[in-house]
Amino acid sequence: MATRRRTLLKVIVLGDSGVGKTSLMNQYVHKKFSMQYKATIGADFVTKELQIGEKLVTLQIWDTAGQERFQSLGAAFYRGADCCALVYDVNVLRSFDNLETWHEEFLKQAWNIGMCPSDPKTFPFIVLGNKIDVDGGSSRVVSDKKAADWCASNGNIPYFETSAKDDFNVDEAFLTIAKTALANE
Ligand code: GDP
Ligand code: MG
Repeated sequence: MATRRRTLLKVIVLGDSGVGKTSLMNQYVHKKFSMQYKATIGADFVTKELQIGEKLVTLQIWDTAGQERFQSLGAAFYRGADCCALVYDVNVLRSFDNLETWHEEFLKQAWNIGMCPSDPKTFPFIVLGNKIDVDGGSSRVVSDKKAADWCASNGNIPYFETSAKDDFNVDEAFLTIAKTALANE
């Protein structure tokens, strides 16, 4: 008889302020979306259970409380991360350019607290290009090709285009996050 095992996976979500990190998590975990901008939320993380094969997985998804704007996030945020989701807004070029910065920031912090992925290219990252719904796609400035190229040249990072507003690709993205993190356990 197969044994049931429960696995806790910590996922951290990084990216510029306003790209939709909190909205993606809310859509995924609570199936809710609001256009109202709230820079801070109460909890450090939210959890969601999912079944992957024979494994019962608890995804623990850590959000920033808005401090990505003006200060670093602190060791507790990064410690024990099994996967790092990097989010940008397909309508804001700067948020895409800053993927590089967030990618490096993660690796620097991981190194500082001794998590140091032996080969940074093998650490499970995932990239989400969010807000593809805006103006029916006509205000998009980052093409899917450009994003996919960046992901390919940074260790074949999986890439998803999402809309937290329309609940497009959100479940799919987080499922891939869970599977990627699990594979790396
Ligand atoms: P965070 O700072 O990265 O956590 O971003 P938020 O989740 O707070 O979102 C910033 C703003 O963008 C809010 O007004 C959200 O309602 C809006 N937003 C987030 N995701 C989407 C999306 O997929 N489509 C649209 N149109 N707006 C979004
Ligand atoms: Mg937020």
